Order: sequence, then C-alpha cells, then structure tokens
Amino acid sequence: MPEATLMTSAILRTSTAARPYRDSTPLTLERLPVPVPRAGEVLVKIERASLCHSDLSVINGSRIRPLPMALGHEASGTVAAVGPSVDGVKSGDRVVLVFVPMCGQCRACTSGRPALCHRGAEANGSGDLLHGGAVLRTSSGERVNHHLGVSAFSEYAVVARESVVVVDDEVPLDVAAMFGCAALTGIGAVVHSANVTEGQSVIVFGLGAVGLAAVMGAAQIAGTTVIAIDPLPEKQALALHCGAHFAGSPSEAADLVAAHAGDGVDVAIEAVGSAKVMESCLELLTRGGALVSVGLPHPDQLLSVQALQFAGTGKRLVGSYMGDADPARDIPAYIKLWREGRLPIELLHTDTRPIAEINESLDALSDGRVVRRLFTFDAV
Ligand SMILES: [Zn+2]
Ligand SMILES: [Zn+2]
Repeated sequence: MPEATLMTSAILRTSTAARPYRDSTPLTLERLPVPVPRAGEVLVKIERASLCHSDLSVINGSRIRPLPMALGHEASGTVAAVGPSVDGVKSGDRVVLVFVPMCGQCRACTSGRPALCHRGAEANGSGDLLHGGAVLRTSSGERVNHHLGVSAFSEYAVVARESVVVVDDEVPLDVAAMFGCAALTGIGAVVHSANVTEGQSVIVFGLGAVGLAAVMGAAQIAGTTVIAIDPLPEKQALALHCGAHFAGSPSEAADLVAAHAGDGVDVAIEAVGSAKVMESCLELLTRGGALVSVGLPHPDQLLSVQALQFAGTGKRLVGSYMGDADPARDIPAYIKLWREGRLPIELLHTDTRPIAEINESLDALSDGRVVRRLFTFDAV
C-alpha cells in the first residue's frame, strides 16, 4: 500500500460548464482518501493518463453519467497493492487500464464479444466497480462515481482485476497508456468490427487518436488503400505519417475515393461522432461495403438515409464499441506489432503536462490542437 493517505483526483460535478473550459473549470482537483482494494480489485498508481474525446462527451453532457464522477479512462500505471482473490497480477507490475471490465460469464463474454459485457456496461453506467459499488469517497464521506471502472485522472485508482492488462516494463508509460482506449478502439474497428482483409480500400473520417489508430490498423494490412479525412491540414499530415496513402478535407473525400477506390470504398470508419458524416460515409461505399460507427454522436442526432440501400446493395452499418476488443488478447498483440514498427502508436502522443493543466487541455482537445495529451501527477 502507498504511504500517502490522500490523493489528488479530478472530479466532475456538473455537465453544464460553458466553454472555454479554462474559465469554467468543469474539473476540480480535490484531495480524496486513497481507496483500499476489495476482493477481486487492485490499487494502481496512475503513471500517465490521457485525455480522450469520451471524457469531453461526459463533460458536455453528450454521455450522461452519474455525478460527481472522478473522470479519465485511458492510462498506464503500476500496481501498488492487490486485494484478496486476485490472480495474475502483483505489486510492481506495469499495467494498461481498460475501460470495460469484462465479467467473463455473461452472454457477450461467453460468445466472444467481451467489449459488450453486460455486467461491465451496467457497472460503468452506474459509476460502480464490477465487483461492488463505488469505493471513492470525499473526505467528508460523499460518494464519488467511477468513470468506466477506471477514473484515471487520479494519483491512484482502485479498479477490478478485469480492468488491467499487464504489459512488459520496457513498453514506455506514455505509449502504454494509449493502448487502453485509442489503440483498442481504432485498430479494433478495422480488424475486428470491419474485418478488413488484404487489398481492401478503407476511408477514415475524423483524425483524432481513435481515427489515426484506425488508419494505422488499416495500413498494416497488406495491399490496402487508406484514405484519411479531417478538416485540419495538420491532422491530414499526421495521418500520412501514420500510414495513410491519401489524405484530404471532407470536401475532397468523394474525389479521393473516385480517384483511388473505383466505385467506392470497402470500408468507411466514422470516428467523428456525427450522424451527418455517417450519412455521407454510406454514399462512399461500394456494393457490399461497410460503414463502421465508432464516434459517439449526441443522443439527439438521428440518421436519415435511403433504407433500400442495405438490402438493395448489400451495404452494412456496423456499430463498434471499444473495437470489439478482447483486451487481454489484443493489447499484447498490438504491442507486438508496435515493436515491429507496424503500429506507430507513439505518433499519437502530442505532449505530457501536469494534471493541474487539465481544464485548459479540454479546450485544446476540443479545438483539435492536441491529439493525445498525457498527464502526470509528479508535479502535484
Ligand atoms: Zn477514450
Ligand atoms: Zn460479461
């Protein structure tokens, strides 16, 4: 167990804060008691925690979560203590945090789709941990909800054993963190949800970390044609570094497809979170092509598309949550590809800042000025 009894944690108490977040400061750094792991749980010292669009979705109310909540879900850490009945992980292990705790017993888990774990989704929705209620409390005893079973913007996190994957010590902490959400979600959308095969054409809309990871996932498959789309020229340039063969703005997408993918792409990955973009993606598919929905549109958004095209041309609309991943299988596999130079995940890392800069960083992510900003607690 750590010697400290209090820890710093970034807490969200309202989802109505206005931009700029630098001024409205939706996240407050509070001092909470370090929680104690129960049966089946581990205490992790968070080493690096990244800011992801899914955090912004909670802050702006697109994803309704119980408040107050200790935010953050993409991170790497070191195991500081383990509770009773924990196998396969010990103090000192380097771990990647995973934002769906998988029970291993429900219909989704036993049918090979653990990313859709029923019990994990239930716990995440209620702000609880997989093996019981919340363990986070303020010093006055007020319950604090867990974010996706992780709550990574904290010096320490108690999480279910199922929320960590042990990785080798030589994987850098910055890189390791990004395997937990961006890599699982983006690469998995390509290799699992879309099942992209050799020689297929893939277009990716939205070049945040998840979209760029999708670009990497598609580019490492032999013979693919990968087109990357984003309004920001610097994101287009980064996509080319990540392995895209062509990049452009949304207004150039149709011409790029016509020039490089014949009558349409085999797969479109929508990583923006916009119903309008999803509609335009369907227009770019060849017969039998698949639109994979990865981004998180606001719940009020509705799709308006020609219904005939699905039966008439065999097009498919595929939802992809956490890249249909099995983290215990996929994170080691992706790290192997990273070691071989085939998945340059480190290109997603913009910079590393102290956690005190988290609110202004929300603006930076919203504006597209950073891809992955990682936080440390060293300077706290
Ligand atoms: Zn995320
Ligand atoms: Zn399950």
